[in-house]
Amino acid sequence: MLKVTLGKTGITVDKNGFGALPIQRISQQEAVRLIRRAYEGGITYFDTARAYSDSEIKLGEALEGIRGKVFIASKTAAKDGGEFRKDLETSLRNLRTDYIDVHQFHNPSFCPKPGDGTGLYEAMLEAKAQGKIRHIGITNHRLSIAHEAVASGLYETLQFPFCYLATEKDIALAEACKAAGMGFIAMKALSGGLIGDSRAAYAYLAQFGHILPIWGVQRESELDEFLSYRDNPPAYDDAIRELIERDRRMLSGDFCRGCGYCMPCPAGIEINNCARMSLMIRRSPSALQLTPEAQAKMKKIEDCLHCNQCRSKCPYGLDTPALLAKNYEDYKEILAGKAF
Ligand code: SF4
Ligand code: SF4
Repeated sequence: MLKVTLGKTGITVDKNGFGALPIQRISQQEAVRLIRRAYEGGITYFDTARAYSDSEIKLGEALEGIRGKVFIASKTAAKDGGEFRKDLETSLRNLRTDYIDVHQFHNPSFCPKPGDGTGLYEAMLEAKAQGKIRHIGITNHRLSIAHEAVASGLYETLQFPFCYLATEKDIALAEACKAAGMGFIAMKALSGGLIGDSRAAYAYLAQFGHILPIWGVQRESELDEFLSYRDNPPAYDDAIRELIERDRRMLSGDFCRGCGYCMPCPAGIEINNCARMSLMIRRSPSALQLTPEAQAKMKKIEDCLHCNQCRSKCPYGLDTPALLAKNYEDYKEILAGKAF
């Protein structure tokens, strides 16, 4: 059974963290059952965010009574100290607890530091002194901000996208965290749904002893796959290496990760799904992507105002409107009978 220690925080948990974003899509009752099943299966690290609508509320109910046996991480997207304090009180109330183990700035567009005028880092320190949070973390999708956070010495953990499509630069970032004694939490370890083989995802990450993946699951069957790897970890063998190489070739370069940071779109386009339709339709059951609802969502691309708001917000520097147009062309050809 693999364990991970998050740098100098000393938090040591099973190498399966629970990402609580997808539980927004299931009922309270289903979510509570799933979270308790995860705990009973050995998962003790639960990652949520103030921005994930009712995720904290669901976790709060599920973890009541076992609070001392688990670690809770949450996030705030507050813009100043006042908002930070308000968010933190809401998170604590929702989570039915009086402390958060790892509290993280949620993908800020800069690296918060003391004296930067926002009061954010000062509010983190104040919360820590009050015992409302135990460790200070940051999440980000941008390499430059992530490196700044590591170099600053102000953070105990970094959460960053990391999966078997990781580049040399991503790996160097994870190593820099290790050298700095910072915990490294891997988000999007299934690349937002593009990676369908959890065995390969797990086997790849098992090579990095200091990285804690948080798996975003919403079905018991998905959860059970990861739980089964505790006792029977998949080997990083030739078959898995080949699969990863194939995926790297297919998914290299600029592709939409489905993170949704470019939204909302003033034209109502569901960018996080539509801008990667060409990949999804070839990788997941294609029938799901061809329903009348899916077709209506793709048709909305015709309403694009070319305002470039999405492009300016994409942390991966994608030309989002062009990507949408490309995916739409491909989709229309598929609807017209193109083999894919
Ligand atoms: S460029 Fe098009 S897709 Fe992007 S935000 Fe504007 S309207 Fe939406
Ligand atoms: S276009 Fe960029 S910001 Fe928008 S969902 Fe895709 S990766 Fe995320």
